[in-house]
Amino acid sequence: MTSRISKADPAAIAAAAGHLAAGRLVAFPTETVYGLGADATNGRAVARIFEAKGRPSFNPLIVHVLDIAGAERLAEMPPLARRLAATFWPGPLTLVLSRRADCLASDLVSAGLDSIAVRAPDHPVARALIAAAGQPIAAPSANLSGHVSATRAEHVEADLGDKLAMILDAGPAAYGLESTILDARSDPVVLLRPGAIPADTIQAALGITLARPASHPDGLHTINDGSEAPDPGPFHAPGQLESHYAPRAKVRLEATHVAEGEALLAFGIAPMSRGPVINLSPGGNLIEAAANLFAALRALDATGAAAIAVMPIPRGGLGEAINDRLRRAAVGR
Ligand code: AMP
Ligand code: MG
Repeated sequence: MTSRISKADPAAIAAAAGHLAAGRLVAFPTETVYGLGADATNGRAVARIFEAKGRPSFNPLIVHVLDIAGAERLAEMPPLARRLAATFWPGPLTLVLSRRADCLASDLVSAGLDSIAVRAPDHPVARALIAAAGQPIAAPSANLSGHVSATRAEHVEADLGDKLAMILDAGPAAYGLESTILDARSDPVVLLRPGAIPADTIQAALGITLARPASHPDGLHTINDGSEAPDPGPFHAPGQLESHYAPRAKVRLEATHVAEGEALLAFGIAPMSRGPVINLSPGGNLIEAAANLFAALRALDATGAAAIAVMPIPRGGLGEAINDRLRRAAVGR
């Protein structure tokens, strides 16, 4: 296999931006770890992230922007969120915010939730790439699901090399530790994941006290030991955040026919139906299906149908994450 690694010079960054615009995946350095990037506004490109990582579920991804103005195009920024961003951006601080109604990011980056996690990385290559792409970049750590986060281009290549268009190499990541994640929709702000910026530093800089989710033994989401196995998915303190997007309608899985009053979520060749139908992918393509999944569930729910019949979806590749999310939708909140 020829190496996908390129020294992150201006020509390579321009080429990487071209790959992103074409819906391909590019790994790039940030100050925390290497990111596995896709154009956040392209649902199929975002679906390829989950496919490449082999994630068994859709957990929401961090979207990388240049600055506060970039974040404001995606999310509502309450005053406290703005102060946090003004103080720590660019830097390893991720803010969970409410998606704007006109947010252009794919709903797959939010795993169907109404929130979106954004950060402005402090690495010249990451910043140049975001600027050249002209779009926000969705990027989890550039490693296979269950492996430790990649802090060098060689680690990325070993894990994901053949699934990427390009790996921009700028040497080892400085922190080697993920960003600190705050839920900045509420006051007090909630510490969702400890990371590269200590909670004390944030509290001292703004003169605030961060709330800690009470339901976890340590009051924290995950203690970051560099490993992401098992990925806990979005942490949500009770009453503060939905654990996942769940439709109001009942969800019936493995449907081979459609009953009276049911809407149909189809995949591949669909059975006859008199009710509303959305086909995730008439051609049976799992990447297309993943990109359409959350919008389709919401649209069918909005028809007012009492139940959504879901056709069987193959379990290989992205099918595992799609089936995982449908099972959760069937169980309800
Ligand atoms: P990673 O990209 O692997 O560093 O992981 C991203 C982290 O951000 C995960 O722990 C997610 O649960 C969290 N995250 C991303 N988006 C959201 C969101 N909209 N709401 C809550 N948590 C989020
Ligand atoms: Mg990770």
